[in-house]
Amino acid sequence: MAQTPRWPDWLPLNQRLQLLSPYGAPQIENVVALNTNENPFDLPVEVVEVMTRRIAEILPHLNRYPDRDAIELRKALERYLSGQVRTVDISHKQIFAANGSNEILQTLALSFGDRGAIGFLPSYSMHPLIAQGVGIQWSSGTRAQDFSLDVDIAIREINEVKPSLIFITTPNNPTGHPVTISEIEKLAAIAKEVNALLVVDEAYAEFSTLPSAITLIDKYPNIVVVRTMSKAFSLAGARLGYLYAREEVIDGLMLTRLPYHLSSQTQAIAQAALESEKILLSQVEYLISQREAVANSLRKMGFFVHPSAANFLLFSGFSVEPQTVWRGVLEAGVLIRDVGIAGHLRVTIGTQAENEQFLAAIQSFAP
Ligand code: PMP
Repeated sequence: MAQTPRWPDWLPLNQRLQLLSPYGAPQIENVVALNTNENPFDLPVEVVEVMTRRIAEILPHLNRYPDRDAIELRKALERYLSGQVRTVDISHKQIFAANGSNEILQTLALSFGDRGAIGFLPSYSMHPLIAQGVGIQWSSGTRAQDFSLDVDIAIREINEVKPSLIFITTPNNPTGHPVTISEIEKLAAIAKEVNALLVVDEAYAEFSTLPSAITLIDKYPNIVVVRTMSKAFSLAGARLGYLYAREEVIDGLMLTRLPYHLSSQTQAIAQAALESEKILLSQVEYLISQREAVANSLRKMGFFVHPSAANFLLFSGFSVEPQTVWRGVLEAGVLIRDVGIAGHLRVTIGTQAENEQFLAAIQSFAP
């Protein structure tokens, strides 16, 4: 069936983009925002003070370009990752940083996407959008009925497509399921067979107890781990994502990253945040316990809640259409997410007060 053209004739929009929709999670003021998996806690005053001092130091020097290779920041990330992944000798030379992990993903697609990319849906909506945006072939793989990753199915689909990029997300957004290290290992082996990079998106890693895929990189050089400071670190506004991979991968990224892409301010703020790691990450345990409390409350109300190792929950079982539920919850002052999965909605874990407001609002839509 012919699509109604949305774009005027005079606009030479790339053919491949004509039927796509931009990323568009609603941003609404004066509501409890439980829709984009942010950390609900403002930065503590002592961290803000450190950041303010650092910014004041760099402002007079903004006439100069930032450190193109972000050496100090990468060393700070090296220290952080060394604490997180103790069994691996972490080196800053294997780290690449960019404006949010979205930019990391885009740079990967630009450098390594020649033979196309595959991901297993439902998963992070930007993986296909970034791939299509930069003009590489996207293939939608599938997951098990319960939305967990079925490695056998994934292996079959990878073998059919033979892409150069394979995306997995663990814990998966929007479903919450983690992928185990032995499953990742199987995927890395098939990725090696088809000569692909396995991109493991660990945006929510700090909320999960499973080991990072960084532990596999010595054995599987084709594994690339993508992380962010937007979630656990409470730093979504600063835009800092990073990648851990073999140095050869970083060399390949250097060909497509823009020079000076990471501003002096971003580097300074991210470094200050990493120095304040203990304070900033101190809310992670609390958010995990809130996640379990909210999941239990939803289950008691009769909803079905998918198991989650992240800072959000995907749930179903509404008495009416999810769009009606979404609007009803918004009218009660809470913004949650319709991720486009039939019969489901996703809620980010907030503070206890925010979660209680959400639970009070959702109660009337229980089955
Ligand atoms: N990966 C996943 C799985 C995500 O959920 C998100 C944000 N929602 C990102 C990457 C991008 O995060 P950022 O660009 O803020 O680092």
